[in-house]
Amino acid sequence: MPIVIIDAEKCKGCGLCVAFCPKDNLELSKDLNEAGHYPATVKSQENCTGCKMCVLMCPDVCIEIYKEVEEVAASE
Ligand code: SF4
Ligand code: SF4
Repeated sequence: MPIVIIDAEKCKGCGLCVAFCPKDNLELSKDLNEAGHYPATVKSQENCTGCKMCVLMCPDVCIEIYKEVEEVAASE
């Protein structure tokens, strides 16, 4: 399952990631960050497909996507 991490303090609340997420999985927070912006937040980590559209759209590079790596058993 992909994990979306948004740097809420860097986010300026422009809403581009919210508008372009094909799963409608992002929204702007109702709480202001230190800079006085409403930062983007993830609605549900489970709904994220890991498409990275939000990462590509963010002008301030606030979003990172991590994918869980399956542990592979050693053959010995
Ligand atoms: S990776 Fe894709 S599905 Fe997941 S939050 Fe970003 S735009 Fe939406
Ligand atoms: S595109 Fe970037 S700066 Fe704009 S709301 Fe999304 S995370 Fe914040």
